[in-house]
Order: sequence, then structure tokens, then C-alpha cells
Amino acid sequence: MHKRIGILGGLSPESTIAYYEHITRTYATEYGDFSYPEILIYSVNFQQYVDWQKLGKWAESAQAMSDALRALHRAGADFGLISTNTMHMVFDEVQARVDMPLLSIVETTALAICKAGVKTVGLLGTVFTMRESFFRDGLKRAGIDVLVPSEGDQLQINHVIYHELCRGEIREESRRAIRQVIDGLGHSGAQGVVLGCTELPLLIRSEDCELPLFDTTVLHAQRALEYATSAEPELR
Ligand code: GLU
Repeated sequence: MHKRIGILGGLSPESTIAYYEHITRTYATEYGDFSYPEILIYSVNFQQYVDWQKLGKWAESAQAMSDALRALHRAGADFGLISTNTMHMVFDEVQARVDMPLLSIVETTALAICKAGVKTVGLLGTVFTMRESFFRDGLKRAGIDVLVPSEGDQLQINHVIYHELCRGEIREESRRAIRQVIDGLGHSGAQGVVLGCTELPLLIRSEDCELPLFDTTVLHAQRALEYATSAEPELR
């Protein structure tokens, strides 16, 4: 019997779809039948979270995410995922309030980078993910060095995420601009690039980049599938 997956989604809906698709399609390919792990998705009001981010109201977000994850647990989820990198800023506070294990996207990504033997990565994501320390520190604790784009490039990537990708818009000029940022990170010593925003893989694919890409959406969804289908009782 598989564990039931609880996804706190809608941050944004564009990437929540990718989680659902990855888990179900990969299961069917690997196992050949349709006995998917059961999945509950709580798709939240994204605008509310964007407003809280702008106002720096992280405690309000942590409270709302804890409430949503507790609802998923009551509905029968065995473990949870917060399907966005940015909101991992308050991961520890949320985990402390929720009585089921949560799979961290930061920890999952760090494991994949270590497994690939990569020592220095460039990190792309929202301004919160690139500027604040929660993601970089998570990778540093695993012995990984992290490079981030210049402040101007960070603002541009952030704009592409919220004004294009979260609205389902894919623009060639934005792809070109981000490829240039990735090339710059490579010249500065990055051996791999973390797509540290769950919408970025909608725009940037491995063929857009000579360096290995760490797609946090796929890594997180894959880890959820593996955990749901394993006999593993604990996360660590
Ligand atoms: N999904 C994005 C991320 O992975 C950003 C959207 C949000 O603000 O949560 O960081």
C-alpha cells in the first residue's frame, strides 16, 4: 500500500500541474500499471501569498500553510510537500506545526547535487530564493558552494517568474536572457545550475544549457513518488 501524498499547491498552479504529471506519468512508466499513489492537492489563493511576500508577512504565510497542510493531513495525507521553493523560507516553522513529515525541496535538491558530484552551483529563482539565505544555507550545509546572479539579473528573473511563467506565458526573449545569465554563472565557476523556482523548468530545459541542470520541480516530485512507494517509514 502506497503512502498518500498531500501537495500544498497553487504556488503557482502552473507548476503544481507539473508535480501531478510527473508523479503519475513516472509511476505508470516505472510500474506499468495504474496503481498510482493517491494524491491530495490543496491549491491555495496565490495572490494572497504574493501580497504577503511583498509585505514581508512571512509569519502569516507560515500560519496559512500550516493550516492547509493540517487539513491535508486530516483528509488522509501521510506526508506533505510545499510545491514552491520560495515558501521554504518558513519550512521549519511550518514543519514544527504539522504532525506529518514534510519533504523539503531544499534538502532534496542538495541530495541530488551531492549525488552528481557537483561542488559549485548557480542558483536561479525568485528574488527571495536568491537573495535570502534559506536556500543557499541549505546547500552550503551539504558542502555545496552557491553563486547567484547580479542584483539586476535577479530582478529580471523574478519579473519573468511572476509576470510570465506564473501566468503560463513562455517568451523566447526571456529564455535567451536567462540563458545568458546561466552562461555568466558558468564563467564564474558554476558546474551546475539549480532551477530553484518550480516554474523555471517551463522555460529552461537541459538543451538550453551546457551545464547540468537541477530541476527542483522534478527532483521534489520524484522524491515524493519514491517515498510514497517505498516501505521507508521515516524521511531521513
Ligand atoms: N513557484 C515559485 C518558486 O518555486 C515561486 C512562486 C511563489 O512565490 O511561491 O519559488
